[in-house]
Amino acid sequence: SSETKVQLVNKLIRAFPDFPKKGILFRDICPLLKDPAALTAVTDLFEEHVRNNYKRVDLIVGLDARGFLFGPLLAQRLGVGFVPIRKTGKLPGVTSSVAYDLEYGKAEAEVQVDAVAPGQKVLLIDDLLATGGTMYAAIQLMRKQEAEIVGCMVVIELKELNGIDKLKPHSVFSVVQY
Ligand code: AMP
Repeated sequence: SSETKVQLVNKLIRAFPDFPKKGILFRDICPLLKDPAALTAVTDLFEEHVRNNYKRVDLIVGLDARGFLFGPLLAQRLGVGFVPIRKTGKLPGVTSSVAYDLEYGKAEAEVQVDAVAPGQKVLLIDDLLATGGTMYAAIQLMRKQEAEIVGCMVVIELKELNGIDKLKPHSVFSVVQY
């Protein structure tokens, strides 16, 4: 059942206090990646959510870097393509970029402009939603491409940071919440 799958996933997410800096409780998904049954379970849960909630999805768009671990698995299940959004300077050809704020300082995200066509229905995926700043940057990139954003998906949502408010009116599906 879904509940059993969620429990299997939840069991394999570790918390490391004060990483990468003091005050951050880092949620580590490496044990989940290492366990084939749990990795299948998380992909099943994403796939079930998509099939139950969205009529059509054209592309899975993954966020640098841990969105690349889950996105292609889901894309294969759905029979659609995968597109990476990368930190700036990594993608060749013509790119579109957006600057966004991190907790300390700034970052920039990019997508290849020929990767997403106007009107395509895209689903954004990452490992974790914290403040929502990273996901919001991805939404802005997709808006610039005139893509239709069907939703956002993450393995983990950190609820107290209220990231989902920043992403409204887009929906956010998460497998586990802390
Ligand atoms: P944010 O932009 O604040 O929503 O942060 C989300 C991004 O930072 C994701 O790509 C996460 O991989 C990473 N991240 C933020 N907070 C954590 C955390 N507590 N544990 C692991 N990764 C995190």
